[in-house]
Amino acid sequence: MSISVKIKEYMERASWIRKMFEQGLELKSKLGADKVFDFSLGNPNLEPPDEVRKAILEVMGDERPGKHAYMPNAGLKETREAVANSLSKEHSIKLTGEQVVMTCGAGGALNVALKTILDPGDEVLVLSPYFVEYFFYIDNHNGIGQLVQTKEDFTLNVRTIEAAITPRTKAIIINSPNNPSGRIYDESSLKELGQLFEIIKNNNNRTIYLLSDEPYSKLAYDGAIVPSVFQSYPYSIVVTSYSKDLSLPGERIGYAAVNPRMENWKEMIDGLTFCNRILGFVNAPALMQRILPKLQGVHVDVSEYQRKRDNLCRGLAAAGYSFVKPEGAFYLFPKSPIPDDVLFVNSLLQENILAVPGMGFGTPGYFRLAYCVPDRTIEGSIEGFRKAIKKFSR
Ligand code: PLP
Repeated sequence: MSISVKIKEYMERASWIRKMFEQGLELKSKLGADKVFDFSLGNPNLEPPDEVRKAILEVMGDERPGKHAYMPNAGLKETREAVANSLSKEHSIKLTGEQVVMTCGAGGALNVALKTILDPGDEVLVLSPYFVEYFFYIDNHNGIGQLVQTKEDFTLNVRTIEAAITPRTKAIIINSPNNPSGRIYDESSLKELGQLFEIIKNNNNRTIYLLSDEPYSKLAYDGAIVPSVFQSYPYSIVVTSYSKDLSLPGERIGYAAVNPRMENWKEMIDGLTFCNRILGFVNAPALMQRILPKLQGVHVDVSEYQRKRDNLCRGLAAAGYSFVKPEGAFYLFPKSPIPDDVLFVNSLLQENILAVPGMGFGTPGYFRLAYCVPDRTIEGSIEGFRKAIKKFSR
């Protein structure tokens, strides 16, 4: 007897972060947690803002029955409306609650959206470097992921996207601010992408959906604003969560929002609502849905992450690493000083530093550092980074 051959193979392919995590646990038990510099996981180290605790207590103090009942599959009306109000302001476009479906995190929203739009064999474009789970999510719904390169500086390359489009292309997933590069895709390249898809729609009557995965949209630095995909292309769906900006990844709350300019948006919403029911998670968690109307506009202190970014960038630049300075999210994606990123990550391990090789994100030759960690981890690691790069410099 065996588990699925495909899953066995996938587990092997996706093992980088897990391997680092396990090696980290071993090192921590041997040396003590304070001697290990763990940059391997994107688990926010900031606690949720105090408003979250207050909102939970308020909801729990409400004695009316039914608090924990099954929710409508699309989500609570008041929650969908509160989210739609915030989105209307952020995107400068009027959304109603009917255009929002509450989900189990951004991961849930992506799976619901892919399930809704894909027929077997449909292709989905994925930009490298990419969030590790995209290819698995696409395969969950019998789609085929197609890898497309971004530019050298990880910005959008509309020409490589155009070249990858085939008659089976049904969607593209973009992620900005990006995990792992920290890039924010600028407005003009998003508009250019929208125009390309509109031309395809007009000439061939084929719709390519733009799935914009935005769990880091509130974590943007130096006053940067994440441009609205709703403004760039009508057939766009925002999938996102409160995992990172409210530091609630374990509570599994997010949503999918459909561009009100999408023709037949109602059919799309009905499809998303149905798929939210049949994938096994049935509805987004009730308690989290109930607190959200009280928490619109609330997020963790972004300046904390910006400070961590600055400290890490300063330390690594002085040690001789090259990288694109992240504009958002909480990841740094430096160039490995040697082409073999796995070998380099292993040499970081000798300095008790845990990183993830770029090949785990479809981009060998780089490595990822998640800097959502205590300041002492960043400060204590710099000497190790310096020693590791020195081993490979002539
Ligand atoms: N998309 C990206 C780019 C992510 O980095 C993550 C989590 O790290 C997710 C989606 C999943 O988010 P959630 O925990 O809200 O499902």
